[in-house]
Amino acid sequence: MSSTYDVLNPATEEVIETIALASLEETDAAIAKAERAFATWRQVAPADRAMLLRRFAAAVDADRENLALLEVYNAGHTIGNARWEAGNVRDVLEYYAAAPERHLGQQIPVAGGINVTFHEPLGVVGIIVPWNFPMPIAAWGFAPALAAGNTVVLKPAELTPLTAIRLGQLAKEAGLPEGVLNIIPGKGSVVGERFVTHPSVRKVVFTGSTGVGKRIMAGCAEQLKPVTLELGGKSANIIFADSDLEAAAAAAPGGAFDNAGQDCCSRSRILVQDSVYEKFLELLEPVVKALQVGDPGDEDSFMGPLISAGQRNTVSGYVPDGSPIAFQGSAPDGKGFWFPPTVLTPSREDRVMHEEIFGPVVAVVPFSDEPDALRLANDSIYGLSGSIWTRDVGRALRMARGLESGNLSVNSHSSVRYSTPFGGFKQSGLGRELGPDALDAFTETKNVFISTNP
Ligand code: NAP
Ligand code: MG
Repeated sequence: MSSTYDVLNPATEEVIETIALASLEETDAAIAKAERAFATWRQVAPADRAMLLRRFAAAVDADRENLALLEVYNAGHTIGNARWEAGNVRDVLEYYAAAPERHLGQQIPVAGGINVTFHEPLGVVGIIVPWNFPMPIAAWGFAPALAAGNTVVLKPAELTPLTAIRLGQLAKEAGLPEGVLNIIPGKGSVVGERFVTHPSVRKVVFTGSTGVGKRIMAGCAEQLKPVTLELGGKSANIIFADSDLEAAAAAAPGGAFDNAGQDCCSRSRILVQDSVYEKFLELLEPVVKALQVGDPGDEDSFMGPLISAGQRNTVSGYVPDGSPIAFQGSAPDGKGFWFPPTVLTPSREDRVMHEEIFGPVVAVVPFSDEPDALRLANDSIYGLSGSIWTRDVGRALRMARGLESGNLSVNSHSSVRYSTPFGGFKQSGLGRELGPDALDAFTETKNVFISTNP
């Protein structure tokens, strides 16, 4: 028997759709279907698999505005962000559509014959998606997995299933065979756990909290099942006195508060060289106060609501009465899970400097010199992203090489490009997504020796 889930609009708290949640039996049936589809999908000629992925990309492109609006209503993403996200799904599909015909093996010189390697698909790949970026995170898993010849079972977050369901429909309309991409809305404890325990699911790709990620890795160890994990972050935005301070202050809110701070790459710690610390805060205050927080469907909104009442409770818990609030932006009253952009000036030891808040709360602290900045930035269990603001290219490179983090940007806050690798150091994750090497995470290397002896 299936249960159901009422999907809410986080900006209004209205129910927008009721979704059936898959039971264990339904999950097993979907996995079995994906396993049957694998037998034929892996045999589809590389050029034909490429063509089907390009058609899928075209179908997404044609449906971009609809997908974007679904994300505005379901996740409270601003319309501008949601359009980018739908476009990113198209781009990721197009990028990996080029892969089936280019996923080259090797011919290695050996005695007595020839030796060749093949990249064999794994089989059924299970993808578990969080609620913060439902579209891109789904595509970063399914596009390279399908390109490599795997079939996919994908569980969206219970809170945000609508765009994943639509992407599944678009895949079918584009001609992907039945069973190749299966969207299974359901609970993490039911559907997600089944991906871990079911022997026919040969790999798990998980994005979400570090706690659940560790449990998934432990569960997968039982069958030596490979995992890719994209987990939490507490990234540093490091601003040196020699930087363009106005530019750094103008960009900092985007780095910290984009998607209402519900971003694993959020630069939620701003480290500022002590000689310009006060000046930086003076420059930051008017920028934060001017941020437009409101109806995510409004083209001018910078920030929408948080995803849920629960998330708002968690975030407010980090800003109790008496918190060292430097200043805050605005947020609407009334219905919706709103929280204003908040700038704190805590001590280095404060928990807001160490724990992922996943909301629009940023901590600003001073540092003395380069070694101090590096020590402070690396004082974290996480290592996902980070930014360095300086006009000294040598310093930028020394810092970039010294930071224990997977995705860095200099004089900007960019983390994600579909053509470059993405992933974390330390407890931010395991493995890399996107970029030219992603297919390796969805294949086994097979070595074959062919004797030429008479
Ligand atoms: P979460 O619990 O880790 O959920 C992520 C996904 O995993 C969801 O689809 C969830 O399903 C599923 N899941 C939960 N428990 C599972 C289990 N035992 N086995 C398999 N799958 C399971 O994250 P959350 O509760 O949404 O968010 C909590 C915190 O995680 C956030 O505050 C933030 O700190 C962090 N987070 C990080 C990222 C990131 O991008 N790195 C993304 C989201 C959240 P349900 O639908 O049932 O929840
Ligand atoms: Mg959870």
